[in-house]
Amino acid sequence: MNVLLYHWDVEKIAEDFLNSPVCEHIDISVVWGIGKNRVSSSPMTYRRESRTIHYLPERIVLFHKNFPDIEIEDFVLLMLIHEIGHHLHWEAEEDELLKINHENEHNENREWKRFHEIGAWNYGRVIVPTRLQEDFDRLNVFNLKRY
Ligand SMILES: [Zn+2]
Repeated sequence: MNVLLYHWDVEKIAEDFLNSPVCEHIDISVVWGIGKNRVSSSPMTYRRESRTIHYLPERIVLFHKNFPDIEIEDFVLLMLIHEIGHHLHWEAEEDELLKINHENEHNENREWKRFHEIGAWNYGRVIVPTRLQEDFDRLNVFNLKRY
């Protein structure tokens, strides 16, 4: 079965969630496309400089094929919450993360990247709706295997 996802669908999901009480103190934008002069293979990416989450609907649909049992709307929300998790991680531990990034800039060891991903998971977990908690964990376990 082909899953359809348009950028306005993602916008609506993001807008509804960011306007919900759980996001009251979260100030970020969600933007279609990977951003100017950027290269990325990710379906969704958080950029700290601009406090922006960039996304590509067609890549979300591809990634979703790994989780066919999750509704596409919920899947978008889970991915979004992971990226918001990166934002919250940066907000809470900026000094620490700057230090880690600086120290590991030319490091082949990917352990520090895992540290970022685990941070996004933990901070995202705080705001994920209860009914999606298990799916959120599954998505993050899957994600960590890439690092
Ligand atoms: Zn991530």
